[in-house]
Amino acid sequence: MNDQNCIFCRIASGERPARVIYEDDRCLAFHDTNPQAPMHVLVIPRAHIASLSEMKETDEAALGRLMLVAATVAHEQGLDESGFRTVINTGREAGQSVFHIHAHVLGGRRLSWPPG
Ligand code: 5GP
Ligand code: ZN
Repeated sequence: MNDQNCIFCRIASGERPARVIYEDDRCLAFHDTNPQAPMHVLVIPRAHIASLSEMKETDEAALGRLMLVAATVAHEQGLDESGFRTVINTGREAGQSVFHIHAHVLGGRRLSWPPG
């Protein structure tokens, strides 16, 4: 289900512009407009899944692909050696602000742990 009110569905359909660096029939990767690291890319499934909490068994393949695309993007950005962080915020207290599931891929600087 695609939602006209969902900004990431609108990016997936091409209706809203984004700096896309990877796309295929199931996923899309684009630069975050408010980067938190020198490399900050979001990877989304084209299908509207609101959050990890809403994931269904039928979403397994799409979200497996999401992880593969995250790794491919990090590789292409030259982050294999230095490392990178892949984050999925779920729910408001965890910092989720866009309710179309997305993996953040962050790298290019030392990332502290635990996250804030
Ligand atoms: P969340 O807070 O839900 O984990 O992450 C949402 C991310 O989407 C934030 O890092 C925010 O900067 C990014 N974002 C929000 N709106 C847009 C947009 O229209 N385009 C792009 N490229 N990123 C967006
Ligand atoms: Zn959506």
